Amino acid sequence: MQVIQVAIAVPMPQLFDYKIDVLHTNSLVGCRVLVPFGPRKCVGIVLRTHVESQYDDAKLKSVLEVLDSDPVCSEQMLILGRWMSEYYHHPIGEVLHTLLPAVLRKLQSGKSKVAVSTHTYLQLTSQNAAHEDAAELLTRSVKQFDLYRLLEKGKQPLATVKQTFTAAIIKGLTDKSLLEKTEVVETPSDWRTQLSVGEKPIPNVEQAIAISTINLATNFSTTLIEGVTGSGKTEVYLQIIEPLLKIGKQVLILVPEIGLTPQTVGRFEKRFGIRVGTLHSNLNNSERLQVWQQARDGSLGIIIGTRSSIFTEMKNPGMIIVDEEHDESFKQQDNLRYHARDIAVYRARQLNIPLVLGSATPSLESLHNALEKKYKHISLPNRAGSSAMPVQRLMNIKGQFMQFGIAQGMLDKMREQLDAGNQVMVFVNRRGYAPALLCHQCGHVENCQRCDNPMTVHKSLNNLQCHRCADTRQLPKNCAQCGHHELDTFGVGTEQLQQGLETIFPNFSTVRVDSDTVRGKGKLNKLLQDINQKKFQILVGTQILSKGHHFPDVTLVLILNVDSALFSADFRAPEKLAQLITQLSGRAGRSDKLGEMWLQTHCPEHPLLQDLINNGFSDFARYALLERKHAMLPPHEHQICIRSESHHKHLSVNFLQVCAQLFTQFKHAKVLGPFPAFIEKKQGRYRNLLIIQCASRKYLQQATQQANDALLEMALSKQVRWSIDVSPIDFS
Ligand SMILES: [Zn+2]
Ligand SMILES: [Zn+2]
Repeated sequence: MQVIQVAIAVPMPQLFDYKIDVLHTNSLVGCRVLVPFGPRKCVGIVLRTHVESQYDDAKLKSVLEVLDSDPVCSEQMLILGRWMSEYYHHPIGEVLHTLLPAVLRKLQSGKSKVAVSTHTYLQLTSQNAAHEDAAELLTRSVKQFDLYRLLEKGKQPLATVKQTFTAAIIKGLTDKSLLEKTEVVETPSDWRTQLSVGEKPIPNVEQAIAISTINLATNFSTTLIEGVTGSGKTEVYLQIIEPLLKIGKQVLILVPEIGLTPQTVGRFEKRFGIRVGTLHSNLNNSERLQVWQQARDGSLGIIIGTRSSIFTEMKNPGMIIVDEEHDESFKQQDNLRYHARDIAVYRARQLNIPLVLGSATPSLESLHNALEKKYKHISLPNRAGSSAMPVQRLMNIKGQFMQFGIAQGMLDKMREQLDAGNQVMVFVNRRGYAPALLCHQCGHVENCQRCDNPMTVHKSLNNLQCHRCADTRQLPKNCAQCGHHELDTFGVGTEQLQQGLETIFPNFSTVRVDSDTVRGKGKLNKLLQDINQKKFQILVGTQILSKGHHFPDVTLVLILNVDSALFSADFRAPEKLAQLITQLSGRAGRSDKLGEMWLQTHCPEHPLLQDLINNGFSDFARYALLERKHAMLPPHEHQICIRSESHHKHLSVNFLQVCAQLFTQFKHAKVLGPFPAFIEKKQGRYRNLLIIQCASRKYLQQATQQANDALLEMALSKQVRWSIDVSPIDFS
């Protein structure tokens, strides 16, 4: 017997020792094993073999089963996992399980082996006797006979057959012993031989410089492409990966969840004539596993995926691209709070391949690295083709008459554009009918009791919803406090705005695009299609409208309320607002029609707004970086955030006070807090934060490591829910 060390997905930092037959111990590192853990069985990953255990042999349990013949975690992924565990202060077992497709993490009896991808075919059985009478047997069913004739030509994929024949017809032939199903192991045809470069536009000067600069790099380097919306970043991506694909190298492209549309994928497939592997949340577990395997064995040339696809292994890696690198969906906001962009930098260095980050509105972190010459920096300051950028203007709404949150002057502008046959987009950052329900008599506001937060009115669903915990209750008819029936709403959400605009502009059709209306597979794509076919003239929506979709006929964009971001306690609020405004404005005026964007504000003289609309995002961002420098805020200094949650307010705060105490021994680390999170209470739990800040990332890392070790030893740390967030971007 030998002893091995296994990483198990439990919130404990250590590895666990198990006994195993000596025979097995050669190539076990990176393989999954089934082990007993307390009363249950767990899937673990072997990290070390031939271990001298500090425990008595008699106390050690034995491995129940070795699940893989080849490692599922390569040497490189294990190194990545160890680095992530240290960098994010997160247990190694949970980290390694995050790197694997879900299906490999779970304990599924009989299905725990890595499945080979198979395709189902239909073919005629080899029972000659049955076939002698086939013609006679099938006289009564034309359809069955058609299928029989089809299969006489040879076996057919089940999926293809299903397009023409119903399940009943297939069953009919099966019952007569004429037809059988076979599973064929798929050996994907080699994409390298299929690769053919389709028609491509001639790049403009700036694109050409970008392409040749990036193509010079063969080893690790990070390049930031700062390209205004419509500057043709995707065309640059297409042309920089072309020479790599031609020599058989694979490319991994990360996009925000909402940006992974059939159009995006289609563009890559069309250009290169090969199938693109996609990884996103709409796939089921076995579909994900299949793409993961095909990337790993080299049978996919291009993989496009969302955040977690950064853990996809490639046999012949050539490049990683992170598109819309500023997008917040790249940061995981619970459990292991990793940032896919940071992981991308680590992986590209590890694999010694180029990394390309692209955005019209780069994060200040990436821009800082580019300006400090840590990253190469390429600008695409002009739109490709002839279309001009929409003109941005401020609408001073002080004292103005408003209807559904829209100033009268804006309604006139809208009518002008609508009458001219154009589309208009109205942005508001609240979904639902109204952000609060209040009693006109006594002023009582309907709150979510678990979150101490006003519940949002959804009239179309006739309910109240808490947008923090998703709690729902029926829309009350009377005030819960005084019983009066005169209930009023406060504020304007997308639903009310849509209804309002329908009454103001009855001759034009209005569509709402928010997470309520796009829920469900393919719904967003259908809506976008309908919009581009001009079935709707007025678009009302939330952030979703700002994420990479093109609305060529939109000539007017209206943002209802920009003021809340100007006075937010979050130091990133102005950056987020500037990104939103710039991204939204990039959706309009793409064709030959000149677009206009209006921002409604009570503070038209605010320097941030002035800078943004007069000088554009890139100027704003550089000024914001300078401001952050003087305020000694990220990215100039580094932060970690310790969060704690408890049903008891004092426990949550006490825990952080103890944390703060632990950091006082580190002289170069600043301790801020504890203070309440922006969402102070959620699902009955009080939430507090402690921020530790330092000019040196390394120093902060070491201090946090020591504090974390000390915390894990304390009884208090078992009484609250807590986590460490490295480089937090959200304090809610
Ligand atoms: Zn009342
Ligand atoms: Zn709630």
